[in-house]
Amino acid sequence: MIEGPKAMAYLPTGFAVPPYLPHEVGFAQGCREQVLRIQRCRDCGRFRHPPSPRCPHCRSAVCDWPAVAGGGEVYSYTIVRHAASEALRAALPYNVVVVLLDDTDGVRLVSNLIDAAPEMVRIGLRVRLDWERRGDLDLPCFRIDSQTEVHDERD
Ligand SMILES: [Zn+2]
Repeated sequence: MIEGPKAMAYLPTGFAVPPYLPHEVGFAQGCREQVLRIQRCRDCGRFRHPPSPRCPHCRSAVCDWPAVAGGGEVYSYTIVRHAASEALRAALPYNVVVVLLDDTDGVRLVSNLIDAAPEMVRIGLRVRLDWERRGDLDLPCFRIDSQTEVHDERD
């Protein structure tokens, strides 16, 4: 079988990515440096994502963008088996994961688990941050964190 786009990037690059908005610039700058920066309110100290102009807790417009380590666990996921775009057809089946990031007040990041076959993805799976270049963008993605993997007795 011919190696598809997965050999270079988890998802192909032939689909449009929306531009970053002004209030997302801290996240975007972090991505350019391959540093995961999550927006944090400077008045109440809470993290939030996706970025927003005002804090949903205290309505403050003042924020900073601290770097976070990027460890976390799969909060939810889906396995995509039908391409929403022709450009994604070659990547099927692929996962979309919601990662609950450690030490961020419950921030969840939508991404991909790039080293997991569909049957390996499960809720609670420990993951670690990695980066993947798609077109001219560096985007956060995740890999299974086998170092901190713990087996849940409920399985
Ligand atoms: Zn706040």
